[in-house]
Amino acid sequence: MSNIRFRAVETAAHKKALHVATPASHPSDYFACKVFNRQKMQQYLPDEVFKKMVSVIDNGAQLDRTIADAVASGMKQWALELGATHYTHWFQPLNEGTAEKHDAFIEFDGNGGVIEEFSGKLLIQQEPDASSFPSGGIRNTFEARGYSAWDPTSPVFIIDDTLCIPTIFISYTGESLDYKAPLLKSLHALDLAATSVCRLFDSKVTKVTCNLGWEQEYFLVDEDLYFARPDLLLTGRTLMGHDSAKNQQMDDHYFGIIPERVKAFMKDLEIHALELGIPCKTHHNEVAPNQFELAPIFEDTNLAVDHNMLLMSLMKRVAKTHGFRVLLHEKPFDGINGSGKHNNWSLSTNTGTLLHSPGKSNKENLRFVVFIVETLMAVYRHNGLLKASVMSATNARRLGGHEAPPAIISSFLGKQLSTLLDQIETTNSDDAFLVKAKRVRKIDIPEIPELLIDNTDRNRTSPFAFTGNRFEFRAVGSEANCASAMIALNTAVAEALSNFKKRVDDLVANGTQPMNAVIQIVRDDIKTCKPIRFEGNGYTQEWVKEAKQRGLDTQTSCPEIFKHYLTPQSVALFEGMGVMNRKELAARNEVKWETYTKRVQIEARVMGDLSLNHIIPVATQYQSALLSNVQKMQSIFSVEKAKQLNERNLLLIEEIAERTSLIERGVEELVAARKVANKIDSEYEKARAYNQTVVPKMDEIRKQIDKLELIVDDSSWPLPKYRELLFIK
Ligand code: ADP
Ligand code: MG
Repeated sequence: MSNIRFRAVETAAHKKALHVATPASHPSDYFACKVFNRQKMQQYLPDEVFKKMVSVIDNGAQLDRTIADAVASGMKQWALELGATHYTHWFQPLNEGTAEKHDAFIEFDGNGGVIEEFSGKLLIQQEPDASSFPSGGIRNTFEARGYSAWDPTSPVFIIDDTLCIPTIFISYTGESLDYKAPLLKSLHALDLAATSVCRLFDSKVTKVTCNLGWEQEYFLVDEDLYFARPDLLLTGRTLMGHDSAKNQQMDDHYFGIIPERVKAFMKDLEIHALELGIPCKTHHNEVAPNQFELAPIFEDTNLAVDHNMLLMSLMKRVAKTHGFRVLLHEKPFDGINGSGKHNNWSLSTNTGTLLHSPGKSNKENLRFVVFIVETLMAVYRHNGLLKASVMSATNARRLGGHEAPPAIISSFLGKQLSTLLDQIETTNSDDAFLVKAKRVRKIDIPEIPELLIDNTDRNRTSPFAFTGNRFEFRAVGSEANCASAMIALNTAVAEALSNFKKRVDDLVANGTQPMNAVIQIVRDDIKTCKPIRFEGNGYTQEWVKEAKQRGLDTQTSCPEIFKHYLTPQSVALFEGMGVMNRKELAARNEVKWETYTKRVQIEARVMGDLSLNHIIPVATQYQSALLSNVQKMQSIFSVEKAKQLNERNLLLIEEIAERTSLIERGVEELVAARKVANKIDSEYEKARAYNQTVVPKMDEIRKQIDKLELIVDDSSWPLPKYRELLFIK
């Protein structure tokens, strides 16, 4: 069986060594050719309309409905030229994927024929009767109306024959039902707060932009093997499977040579992505076998989030044409690394970057310190919430394991920056920071060494690390929508910055010089947020203990972690910054708990089926073969001799019997636990029951199955093993 499986891999590889789109040109020739970007707008829109659109995009001006028809008309012309026949509002509902409902451009022309039609009204707003999208009860089915409304800051694009219009998705009563609406609000809040802090230092700053550069990790498995694993197919991860003798111990995959088939896939994927304006920059092997990474150049956060959603769906499509399946699950295989999505986060102003040092002057250096410290304040105050923002049933399998970021949010700054903050904190002489009216006489911010720019002092275990000119939030899950983490982070930083500004203003109102006030507050905050700074190894048990003492959140249960969204502190944060209200937060949590339950429920069902229909029959068959062998031996040899020769077989028979009966009992208990949990009304309580009673049962069953995998005849084992799944040839 094994050999046949291997052969299957090879034939599939050749069969599907598919067309790699080979454009005769360079990326610069076809980059964004399927995007209605500024350049296309200029080409297809009347001058006046183009100018208004630019102002909408750059300054967040209101979209004037009177220009909508003109914009739609230009867009339509461009789309038809590229062969588009349909259009869709493309949005990001709370179930992690994207949603779209395609409509053809055609309308009756009144003379029995049809014309291609697309109006401003259709561009701006739609009502995608989307009652089946998760809404946490905000939108009961009887008032199922949800609106999708165009987000003009993200350009429309074409996939196949469809013009896709990025939209927000909100309920009839205005609550957000998606990721984009709160993301845009959080970006706005951050812009306001950060700009006002920047203006303490430089009156030329009028806008602060938040940048996101994500790194997407993923696994590839051969399609034929994927289909032979019902667990991969239905849950996205292997629910069973013993370690391969060789996995990632040799560290030979990371940055190794990319297998030919994978290279062809990556090339194809990147061509499609570049056409859609996704600036793919880097690809390489990751730590685990069959694990890879793709990273683009960073972009404005809203656009970067859209691009990541697009890329994930492109990946799935392109992989199929190469005989692969992409696994975006955070922990598809036990015993080797899982996948994350590092979110590189930074801020820049209309005049330059903010998290970059050294600056040209002491004032700029001080501003740098303020933004670092206030980001730390945000992460410190809301570390539990930030964890909640990246938590999911799937990422819970990765976070808190003995790899990747731990389930405790802390921040790593590197030696230089850490020392710098320590110096500022411990310089007690106020004299050192004396600032005279108007003219800065002396701001004793120690020299910030050049090296900080290329901070290679890396700590891979930190979930929130400063890496020279940005923070890298590494706890984000590989299949997650980046927006969830970015909403929480941006809102928390916006709050920290506005608190900071308020306190500085208060001091200034009482006669303190502005820069002195800044230094005083920043020094206070360095002290306050100290518990969030951790430079050590985040994987150790000692850190868990220490983090607890520091007052950081060390909870590992996913349903409990979600509760952080509803603490008074979090509600005050989101409401205070105008990002979400309590009702929206509560509704979204209902969705989170429900989704958690459903994912575990599906896993438990698949586990039950596989145990009873795949594993036990095969194990029992092998056991029967052993039994008949034993009996036959007894008929040939003397009792003594037969006993001696059968020693191992008898042990195996006993072991199989014990393990299969443990599995049977385990499945019964699993079903019983599910039945009990299913009766619970509260989504939180139900998720909690699944977490406490169903998850551990599955893990127990798995243990038995993985042991059986080692003893049952390989030729009859019903599932491809890790060693087959994990090494693409
Ligand atoms: P590493 O794996 O060492 O972290 P990569 O080159 O794989 O480095 O990824 C770097 C990521 O950081 C890219 O996605 C890139 O766009 C992003 N990035 C670089 N500079 C910034 C910045 N100033 N702001 C946000 N993201 C950035
Ligand atoms: Mg990185």
